[in-house]
Amino acid sequence: MWKRVRGLKYREIYVKNALSRSKIRDVEYSLNPYRGCEHRCSYCYAPFVLHIPNEKWNSEVLVKINLPTVLDRELKKIGTRVHVLIGSVTDGYQPAEKKYEITRKSLAVLLKYGARVNILTKSPLIARDKEIIEKFEYAEVGISVSTLDEIKRKKTEPFSAEVEERFNALSQFSSKVRKYVFLGPIFTHTLNELEGIFSKASEIGVDYIIADRFRRREGMRVPAAFYEGIDYGELGKKLKNLEKRYDLPVFFSF
Ligand code: SF4
Repeated sequence: MWKRVRGLKYREIYVKNALSRSKIRDVEYSLNPYRGCEHRCSYCYAPFVLHIPNEKWNSEVLVKINLPTVLDRELKKIGTRVHVLIGSVTDGYQPAEKKYEITRKSLAVLLKYGARVNILTKSPLIARDKEIIEKFEYAEVGISVSTLDEIKRKKTEPFSAEVEERFNALSQFSSKVRKYVFLGPIFTHTLNELEGIFSKASEIGVDYIIADRFRRREGMRVPAAFYEGIDYGELGKKLKNLEKRYDLPVFFSF
């Protein structure tokens, strides 16, 4: 069934598999409740990973309606304590989640099997599920931040939430949950905002920061001025300096 939302269609689909083996360090599986992402960031690499044409990625979201049931079946076989990353190639808390609650229902299944979870999002909607996330023996919640400047943010992430709202949502989680900021992609304008981002992260009790560079692919609609001329050696030094000053571990590999 198709539904049209903000020029983008939702389509409910039935999937055969829920978890995918992950190559990301310390993560065993990834779980993507949606295929497509309403945030439509201009630097999104997900369509390249999934081999989906950009126009298609930006025009429809497939809602994996039976995902929690399939996940339950898979975890029954795999067993307990698996480490699952939610949102490696989508955002589990994009607007569709408000209505469909596929991420929320999947979390209930993961909790039942004692999984360890890591959720990365750009949406304050994650705070809705605070109660369930805090029940996990091990949970990490991260927000992606590329800039604190709303005008710049709208140029690259036109349909995502304001950055302040993301920080507010993250600040609501207790110390039972490990909190992190995914600082990326780092653009030229981000370089002047590193101090502000570290300060904000430290203020709300973030446990660590992961910093990532912009990885350009053909067809991405990102102005060259946003990424040309970055000296990654210098950037690394700056990050190490901020790590010391804010006593906030930072991980990166440029
Ligand atoms: S939030 Fe993530 S998955 Fe969604 S469009 Fe942006 S970069 Fe892609």
